[in-house]
Amino acid sequence: MYRIDTVYIGGTFQPAHGREELLLLNPTTEAPMGVLVLADEEDARRAVASAVGAFPTWSRSGRQERMDLLNALAEAVRRRADDLTEATILEYGGPIEQARWRAGLAANNFLAAATLLEDYAFTRRINEVEVVAQAVGVATHIVPWNSVYNAISVKMAGALAAGCPVVVKPSEYSAWQVQLFTECLHAAGAPAGVVNVVNGRGVVAGQALAAHPDVCKISFTGSTPVGKSILRTAAERMARVTLELGGKSPTIVMDDADLAKAAALALSIGYANNGQACIAGTRILVPRARVDAFCEALRVAMRDVVPGDPRIARTTLGPLVNHRQYDRVQAYIRKGLEEGARLVTGGPGRPEGITRGYFVQPTIFADVTNDMTIAREEIFGPVLCVIAYDDDDHAVAIANDTPYGLHAYIIGQDMGRARAIADRVDAGRVAINALTHEPLAPFGGFKQSGVGREYGAFGIEAHLELKAVIGAARS
Ligand code: NAD
Repeated sequence: MYRIDTVYIGGTFQPAHGREELLLLNPTTEAPMGVLVLADEEDARRAVASAVGAFPTWSRSGRQERMDLLNALAEAVRRRADDLTEATILEYGGPIEQARWRAGLAANNFLAAATLLEDYAFTRRINEVEVVAQAVGVATHIVPWNSVYNAISVKMAGALAAGCPVVVKPSEYSAWQVQLFTECLHAAGAPAGVVNVVNGRGVVAGQALAAHPDVCKISFTGSTPVGKSILRTAAERMARVTLELGGKSPTIVMDDADLAKAAALALSIGYANNGQACIAGTRILVPRARVDAFCEALRVAMRDVVPGDPRIARTTLGPLVNHRQYDRVQAYIRKGLEEGARLVTGGPGRPEGITRGYFVQPTIFADVTNDMTIAREEIFGPVLCVIAYDDDDHAVAIANDTPYGLHAYIIGQDMGRARAIADRVDAGRVAINALTHEPLAPFGGFKQSGVGREYGAFGIEAHLELKAVIGAARS
C-alpha cells in the first residue's frame, strides 16, 4: 500500500493542505492499492502563486536554458521507464507492451520540443513590423487518467518551450503514476516554481485552478461536458484555452478492403488502451453488401484480442480503470441490446473465466444505426458498433453525423478514393490504413472534440501570445 500525501510546489514535495483521502483499488484484482490525500483549493492557490513567482525569470529564459531543461526531463523520464511502466500496469491495468510504449512517449515529447526550439522563430518581420511571440503567462494543465505520462508531457513540453511555468492537475485515479512522474520532473531540476503538480478532485483543485485570475492559459484533456464547463469559466476573464475532448471516431472500411486485414486493424483501432482511448474508432462503417462477411472476419480477428492479467505478455486487453467506468460501460452494453442492436461478440458482464477486476467483455454490435445511443455517445470501453452504408457519399455523411470530430480511419486499397474520403471527413486527424502517431503533426478536434491543437510546434504556439511592434524594423 502506498500513501501519497504531498503536493509538488516551488521545487519541493510538501504536505498537502487538503485532508480528504481517496482509497485506490487495483483494477485487475480490486485489492486496495494505496491512498491519495487530495489536494484542495488552498493547494491550488499555493501552486499558482509559486508559478507566478517563477514567470518573470522563466518567460525571459534563453533558448538554450529551455532546451537543457527539456532534455533533462527526457533523460529523467527515460531513467525511470521501468518504474513508470510498472505503475501503469498496477494502477491502470495497462498490458505490459502498451504500458512500456506509453512510458516512452513522454521522453519523446520533451525531446521533440527541445529539437523544435533549436530554430523556433519567436520573432518575425512583416514589412516594418516585428512580430514577437511571448509566453502567454502561467498555464494550468488538467489531464485525465487514461494516458497520464503522455498527456502531462505533451502539454508541459509546449509550455516550457514557450516560457510558461506550469501547474499540473492530474487525475486522482492516476495517483501513483503521477507520483513517479513528478519524481522524474523533480530530478530534472527545473527552477523552483516552473513545474508544480497538485492532485485533487476536479471539482475542487481543478475548478480552483481553472477559475484562478492569475492563470492565463488552461490546457485541458478530458470529457466534453467538463471541457464545456472549463470554457465557460475561462470566458469570464478570457483565459486562453486548449481543449482536447471526447470522440466517437469512424473507421470507414471501403468496398475494396481486404476484410481479414481490415477487421484486424479495426479491432486494434477500437480496442486501443483497453478501449479507453479518445481516438478509438468505435463506429465501424461497412458497405451494406459486405456486413455479414465483415462480421465473420471480426469474429476470426477476435481470437487475437485476449482480455486478462496485464502482466501476461499475450494479454491485449486489460481492465477498465475503476468501478464507475465498469458500471458505465455495462450500462451502454445493455442499452445497445435494448435498442435492438445485434451482438457479434461479447455482451454484458466479464469475459469468460475472469471473476474479479473491472474487466468488460470486448463487445461488437451489428445492425447499429447512427441514431442509436451506442453510436452517438462516447462509451470509453471496448464496445464497437458496425454500421452499414450504401456508397462513399453515405459513408462520409454517417462519419460526419456526430457531435465529435477527433479522429477518423479509412481502410481500403484505392488510395485515390481513400484520400478523397479523407478530404471530406471532419476530423482533426485522419489515418489511412494505419494506427500510427506522428508527434510533430497537430492533434485536436473538430466540433465538440475540442478547441485548438497540441503536439509539435502547435503545442508551443498554444502557449504564446503574438505582439506586433510597429516601427521596430526602422531602429
Ligand atoms: P474528466 O473530464 O472527468 O476529467 C479530466 C480531468 O479533469 C481530471 O483531472 C478531473 O479531475 C478534472 N476535472 C473534472 N471535473 C472538473 C472541473 N469541473 N473543473 C476542472 N477540472 C475538472 O475525464 P476522465 O474521465 O478523467 O477521462 C476520460 C475522458 O477524457 C474521455 O471523454 C476521453 O475522450 C477524454 N480524453 C480526451 C483526449 C484527447 O486528447 N482529446 C485524450 C484522452 C482522454
